[in-house]
Amino acid sequence: MSEIWVIAEKRGTQIHSSTYELLGKARELAWKRGSSVALALLIQERPTEETFRNLFRGGADRVMIAVDKSFERFDFGPYIRVLKEMVSQRPPEVILAPATTSGRTYMPGLAALLGTGLTADCTGLDIEEGTGNLLQTRPAIGGNIMATIKTPKHRPQMATVRPKTFSPLGEVYRERGEIVDFPVRPELVESPARLLKFDSIGEGEKGVQDAEIIIAGGMGLRRMENMAPIYKLARMINGTVGASRKIVDSKWIGHEAQVGLSGHTVKPKIYIAAGISGAVQHIAGMQTSEFIVAINRDRNAAIFNFADIGLIGDATEILTQLVEAMELEVR
Ligand code: FAD
Repeated sequence: MSEIWVIAEKRGTQIHSSTYELLGKARELAWKRGSSVALALLIQERPTEETFRNLFRGGADRVMIAVDKSFERFDFGPYIRVLKEMVSQRPPEVILAPATTSGRTYMPGLAALLGTGLTADCTGLDIEEGTGNLLQTRPAIGGNIMATIKTPKHRPQMATVRPKTFSPLGEVYRERGEIVDFPVRPELVESPARLLKFDSIGEGEKGVQDAEIIIAGGMGLRRMENMAPIYKLARMINGTVGASRKIVDSKWIGHEAQVGLSGHTVKPKIYIAAGISGAVQHIAGMQTSEFIVAINRDRNAAIFNFADIGLIGDATEILTQLVEAMELEVR
């Protein structure tokens, strides 16, 4: 049975958490299919022994590494050429990658080079018994239905998954495995692009994707000025400010804060939804949060169906009172 591949995501020389989430899911699929899991890592320097161990622990049987200085920054051309060559040496049955900015860029290119299809932003993955078809579930038609897509006539089957959709494996899979060094020929990494400068947005602050506490605002706040207690609370409890699409569209806050189908998928320990109705497209991005607090004036708001605690009332008033009470407590 051929392998299930995960393409690793990295930040600098560190493996990003989305890689472990996908390894966990790939391992589950491999158990079901009776196959094995390989991880492809394109990186600027050889990883430490501890990194390899973590990857095996996280679900990989085999780690294939391509080391080249050019992989310090993502570049589309070198990425797809190296990955295509890796695939042609030992074609896998399935290729999974995180739906990050780079994953969303190289996966369509790689699929085109391999003459196969790609299902983007999957929220569920399974294996069909017998055929080995990958069942790729994702929202469709504006998020109103969940479609399960199969690719019976083409291999490899390729899918991207947003970070925080799946959890890493809950157990140690193995301590050691096979490490394969992939030699990177210079012509594979040649590129007409030169990186002149790299500006990171909001450096030092956690984005919603990595936040452990999110305080998200919606249209129920009524005015942009009423976001003030949200920012205050976020500062006090080391949280990150999130948003519904309506307030992003109203330009109260930037798109990087948007949670939902056309924003980010998040999985914080605590998610506070203030003045958010709970439209399916918003829920799609935050329903796996560990603990959800909803504040809404309407006791029938859909958000309450997903909340662990629901507060009925004016969101701005409740948040302002909470901040004042916490300030008193600190004094
Ligand atoms: P509203 O729907 O206007 O709800 C406001 C809520 O605030 C209501 O429940 C109301 O009862 C409550 N409220 C009113 N006054 C108060 C008050 N004083 N105090 C407390 N509560 C009050 N949406 C997203 O969020 N993220 C996405 O990624 C996203 N992607 C989309 C993709 C597509 C293809 C489509 C079609 C839509 C998408 N949407 C997305 C939009 C989504 O359908 C909703 O329109 C949006 O989530 C609603 O935002 P909201 O809850 O802030 O506003």
